[in-house]
Amino acid sequence: MNIREEKRQVLRNRVNFWALQLGIHPRIVRVRSMTRKWGSCSTSGIVTFAIDLAEQEPGFQDFVIAHELLHLRVPNHGKLFKALMTVHVPDWKTYSTEQRRVSKAINHRFTAPAGSCR
Ligand SMILES: [Zn+2]
Repeated sequence: MNIREEKRQVLRNRVNFWALQLGIHPRIVRVRSMTRKWGSCSTSGIVTFAIDLAEQEPGFQDFVIAHELLHLRVPNHGKLFKALMTVHVPDWKTYSTEQRRVSKAINHRFTAPAGSCR
């Protein structure tokens, strides 16, 4: 297994864990190179994650993965979304602000919020 495959596997395992945890099962999970975002989701049940996410700390991975999966249930960042994030990822706010620093560190220009649903 090459390094890219290993990274994919790491993220897929994490996504599977969160799918069970949240009871939200995406139709398709994609892992690929993304230059501007850590993750995205579509209303048709597809979630996509940046392969570089595999190199970030586990807590940050959880933040991004839970964020995208929750969007399959709540397609905005309203009160319900934030409440669910707080239940499942209690320190999500830390990561939400830290995200900029982390992105900068790996020289990405993440202009949109980590999981903006397009
Ligand atoms: Zn979002």
